[in-house]
Amino acid sequence: MAASSPPRAEAIVDLDALRHNVTLLADRAAASGAATMAVVKADGYGHGALPVARAALEAGATWLGSCSLAEALALRGAGISGPILSWLEVAGEDFAPAVAANVDLTASSVRELGHILGAGQRAGRTPRVHLKIDTGLSRNGCPAAEWPDLVEVAAKAQADGHAEIVAVWSHLACADEPGHPSVDLQAGRFQQAYEVSTAAGLKPLRHLANSAATLNRPDLHFDLVRVGIAMYGLNPLPHPEDLVPAMTFRSSVALTKRIEAGESVSYGQTWTAGRDTNLALVPVGYADGVPRLLSGRLSVWLAGRRRPVVGRVCMDQLVVDCEDDLVPVGEEVVLFGTGERGEPTATEWADTLGTIDYEIVTGMYRPRVTRTYRGQR
Ligand SMILES: *Cc1c(COP(=O)(O)O)cnc(C)c1O
Repeated sequence: MAASSPPRAEAIVDLDALRHNVTLLADRAAASGAATMAVVKADGYGHGALPVARAALEAGATWLGSCSLAEALALRGAGISGPILSWLEVAGEDFAPAVAANVDLTASSVRELGHILGAGQRAGRTPRVHLKIDTGLSRNGCPAAEWPDLVEVAAKAQADGHAEIVAVWSHLACADEPGHPSVDLQAGRFQQAYEVSTAAGLKPLRHLANSAATLNRPDLHFDLVRVGIAMYGLNPLPHPEDLVPAMTFRSSVALTKRIEAGESVSYGQTWTAGRDTNLALVPVGYADGVPRLLSGRLSVWLAGRRRPVVGRVCMDQLVVDCEDDLVPVGEEVVLFGTGERGEPTATEWADTLGTIDYEIVTGMYRPRVTRTYRGQR
């Protein structure tokens, strides 16, 4: 297909918006003396890890965070030289290439630390390790009962020159619910775990805050905050913040037609025209990230106003009711965007579906969706 063909489905990522959000977050962190890690896992929450990483570093982040070695190594391979933390081991994974590339690794158990130390020997380089304590999420992280053992092995490895213990860290379960009692409980457990590490002679950094805690719990910023969703402009908190959504998802009108009252639209004929009306066909569907569950509950921004999607969302197409308006073929159709003009947002989709906007934007990470960048430097 010619490179000049217009995309069927396009996710436009506004790097100026992203930089605006990172600057806001990094300023909040800096006010309490903390550095900022831009979390770019899952290909930058669907926005593209590398362009996001570069923009975030331009705007004040100094660390990058990723959930997989492959993603961390791809950033290194693209020439990014600052600190990168990777935090989830897949059983049987070889850490040696990551140690060789100076990617910081996470140990949640003595066993994982052992794998990292072994990789350090094979790579001929001292691994940089962050010890993760489970303070109440019960996901990864070391349970409190095993923490003293992990710290002891880590302290010995550092004393022997086999590891550099960079940080002690944890992750919050309910930071997006201000006042939730678990936040203070987790912070207390985090403090205890940190004290165990300093008593063993370690002098680690501390990091705990995600986006929500970065925005509403400055007392939990410690040395470094890890921001994801807010950097992409989606607000995890119930009150407003000055964030700008970075992703706009759009397509264009492929075909128009007029149908008569009584004619129905799409599979199952779930919608029937009550009057003669103009329809616009848009060549995106659930294969492009428009959830079929939004059928009958979705509107798009088309030719200056919101218009309802009628009938079922199909694999490759959906149909918009334009009533008596004549919209031209090729006209832009915004499925979600910043909301500034009145178009739907990813958050609105999520609320309709009963999920979170994280899942909506991350779901745009698919081969049929073309990503275009605005504000690239
Ligand atoms: C995803 C993730 C973050 C970022 O969370 P947001 O809510 O998107 O800010 C921070 N830390 C860890 C460990 C994560 O997995």
